[in-house]
Amino acid sequence: MRELSAYFCPKCGHYAYFQLPKNAVCCGCHISMRRINMPFQRFMDMDCEERDRYISCRIIETTPSLAHRICAPDKLYDQRRLIGRLTEEYSKLENENQSLNQTVDWMHKTIWEQLRRMKELELKVEELEKRRER
Ligand SMILES: [Zn+2]
Repeated sequence: MRELSAYFCPKCGHYAYFQLPKNAVCCGCHISMRRINMPFQRFMDMDCEERDRYISCRIIETTPSLAHRICAPDKLYDQRRLIGRLTEEYSKLENENQSLNQTVDWMHKTIWEQLRRMKELELKVEELEKRRER
């Protein structure tokens, strides 16, 4: 019998145990999970907090752009600074998201305005055609 290995989802951090890599698919995100590179028993021996921390680090590692954005300026081994950086990154993304939403709102308004004008023009054209027919 094949040994179990621990796998984690790089998107949501969910972890589970599988014998075969092909079965390692996240039940929530439906993407392939990554094998945790340590003996199964050692992973089992970690407590919840250690597992959380370990998987968090792997997720950051497997997201090159994120890791680069967060860790490039200087190697951040200090967790407080890392969290500070993550919080900063998060609020930046939140702001970006907000301005995108505003753009979408604006586009909605513009589109409705355009549709209303087109309707008006259509009515005018109809009216003109009717007049011509008379
Ligand atoms: Zn997942």
